[in-house]
Amino acid sequence: MFAINHAATGLIIKKIYPGVSLGPILVSVQLIEIIWVILNLVGVEKTKTENSVTSVSDVHLEYMPFSHSVVSTLVLAAVTWGLAWYFMDAKMGAALALGICSHLVLDLVSHSRDIVVAPFLKSGKFGLGLYEKPAVAFVFETAYGVLCWWIYGGSIVLLGIIVFFNLANVSFFLKAVPGPERFLAGKPKWITSIVALQIIVTAVLVYLFS
Ligand SMILES: [Zn+2]
Repeated sequence: MFAINHAATGLIIKKIYPGVSLGPILVSVQLIEIIWVILNLVGVEKTKTENSVTSVSDVHLEYMPFSHSVVSTLVLAAVTWGLAWYFMDAKMGAALALGICSHLVLDLVSHSRDIVVAPFLKSGKFGLGLYEKPAVAFVFETAYGVLCWWIYGGSIVLLGIIVFFNLANVSFFLKAVPGPERFLAGKPKWITSIVALQIIVTAVLVYLFS
């Protein structure tokens, strides 16, 4: 799932735990993506592309068992829950663990089959495969982002931000719409860097206008 809609998920968690600051929640919903960015940049995890990239279906998240696997996510959530509970309070722990787990659940819904059960375990790869039908994924992601906004009860400006970032990514979903993705063929580290930039910009904007 794209960064804006992970950030929008933070709004629902904020609604469930109104006493917890949105800042740490916005980090939690992207924590495994931040780990993915770092592990891709240092070459531990790998992303590949087709020779030409016209949509997300041409980008393959080849190897990411440490950042995006069921067991690594559950362990990270449990450790974060424990630390936050110990150093802060139980609600902070629960909110952050929920944020961490939400990321993997949303990626399992949207991604092609690229999520394994655990690092070092030979298992199948899972994902419902929305990104294999990018147009459907675009409608789903935009509707989901708006739903998060509606549940939270955000401002019109916040709705505008969520809709804008979904529309800004439209060329990654619709093959017929040309966009910057065609420059990303064979440049996985550029893809990683764009994802990192979107994580930061969307989190800051959602925080400021929440
Ligand atoms: Zn992810």
